[in-house]
Amino acid sequence: MAAKIIDGKAIAEQVNRETAELAAKLFAERGVKPGIAVVLVGSDPASQVYVNSKDRKAGELGFNSLKIDLPAATSQITLLTEIARLNRDPQVHGILVQSPLPKHISEKEIILAIDPAKDVDCFHPYNVGKMLIGEPDGFLPCTPWGVMMLLERSGINPAGKHAVIIGRSNIVGKPMMAMLVQKAKGADATVTVCHSRTPDIASFTRQADIIVAAIGKANFLTADMIKPGAVVIDVGINRIPDAAAKSGTRLVGDVDYAAVAEKASAITPVPGGVGPMTIAMLMRNTLRACQKANGLPMA
Ligand code: NAP
Repeated sequence: MAAKIIDGKAIAEQVNRETAELAAKLFAERGVKPGIAVVLVGSDPASQVYVNSKDRKAGELGFNSLKIDLPAATSQITLLTEIARLNRDPQVHGILVQSPLPKHISEKEIILAIDPAKDVDCFHPYNVGKMLIGEPDGFLPCTPWGVMMLLERSGINPAGKHAVIIGRSNIVGKPMMAMLVQKAKGADATVTVCHSRTPDIASFTRQADIIVAAIGKANFLTADMIKPGAVVIDVGINRIPDAAAKSGTRLVGDVDYAAVAEKASAITPVPGGVGPMTIAMLMRNTLRACQKANGLPMA
């Protein structure tokens, strides 16, 4: 069986079109534009690429976008002062501080300093708690929310299914678990979470109807680790050497794509799967923050 390819790029474009329409309506009715501030400390090349693509996407959707580049030597107190200024700025509805931060800055302190009403990454414990208890007026973390959206818009209902997540990070694995297990439409799965201390991961993945791989290890999930007809969502992004590529490298996920696609019923590619959804959900969160700040129901 050849799997259906879940086209994250197309679904993200659909979500983005809807976000842009809602933003245009907000501007027409209230004269406000959603505003996002993206803060980059240092010049990590991968972070620069991410920040530029978020800035570009915000512009395309009709948002105000503020890109703040700070030198790598920026002190924690200077960054906290900058965040306090953005917290007060009524034109800024969402604040994102690109990680990783330089080692001398405490990521935890920075996350706590962002006003939860502007925490569009959903990293603040206040919003993480709301997500966990299923409060609908908070934010949802962008990557796992993107996965939920991919499932929903591909007609895959997790209700009553066994979902196995590999990875338990705070930004992907743990919130993915909380979202899939939620007592709610589009969720209601039975969830197992595997990690580096799980013995015999294949014995869990072989039972899974839905597998979410979020590990950061190229080609980790092989065809012998899945049951026929499983849905496979690949969150991983890994750069591996490729002599045939112009750059000498290429991006792959955590899934041995070609072989797993022969056995799965649906699969996300890398690139073009989960990746575009993450930015789409970030923009949706920023729109939601703007709607809430203006006393409107959140989309
Ligand atoms: P992370 O913080 O490094 O967490 C990796 C998780 O995988 C940890 O829970 C770790 O277990 C587990 N793990 C590592 N090696 C393992 C192994 N051999 N067997 C079983 N579990 C193992 O990574 P992350 O931030 O969650 O990201 C995971 C991947 O997704 C990365 O490739 C990242 O680039 C990608 N990502 C993509 C997007 C996107 O938009 N597409 C967004 C975020 C992340 P322990 O907890 O036991 O250490």
